[in-house]
Amino acid sequence: RPMRASAVLTEAVDRTRLAAQAQAISVAVIGDGDLPVCGDEGQLVTAVANLLDNAISYSPRGTRVVLGVRRSGETVEISVADEGIGIAEKDLERVFERFYRADPARSRATGGTGLGLAIVKHIATNHGGVVSVWSAEGAGSTFTLRLPLFTGDDDDAMTDGSDETREDDGVDGFD
Ligand code: ATP
Ligand code: MG
Repeated sequence: RPMRASAVLTEAVDRTRLAAQAQAISVAVIGDGDLPVCGDEGQLVTAVANLLDNAISYSPRGTRVVLGVRRSGETVEISVADEGIGIAEKDLERVFERFYRADPARSRATGGTGLGLAIVKHIATNHGGVVSVWSAEGAGSTFTLRLPLFTGDDDDAMTDGSDETREDDGVDGFD
């Protein structure tokens, strides 16, 4: 099931649109959306949406989130960069564990269960990929999902979501 990265990214942005709007956060999509990846589109959308959901949840109002896609060798790198609260060094290696929440997140009035990133890691592994994080406390975080570049010659089977009718949503990228 090869697909273009743009199909995954666009759907993930759609799924988190209301949360972004509620926080006045703008999500910019940049890079080469034509890059092909292979796998379960629904799972990949869930993975990217979970990363976007965190970027939105752990950032101040009015900040910017950048969703990027680029090729690095035989790998497609999908990154979600925020200008949020960041993650302390001591928590960094644990955020992918089930139910783990760093202190500022734990003390938030509303919040999740600490499963989002464990699910992302699971999906990455299922697709022969990895997920990693860079963060600086108080400055922001960047999560990167690395997936194998699809190298089959299955171009005709490629889905790009263009068979669905959708309204122009004003989000940058892939138009
Ligand atoms: P949910 O199950 O609803 O996703 P959650 O967001 O708390 O709950 P994860 O998505 O697994 O769980 O994230 C784990 C923890 O990692 C968060 O509680 C938070 O402390 C930290 N974290 C994740 N993403 C970010 C981010 N972009 N900026 C700052 N902290 C983050
Ligand atoms: Mg989460």
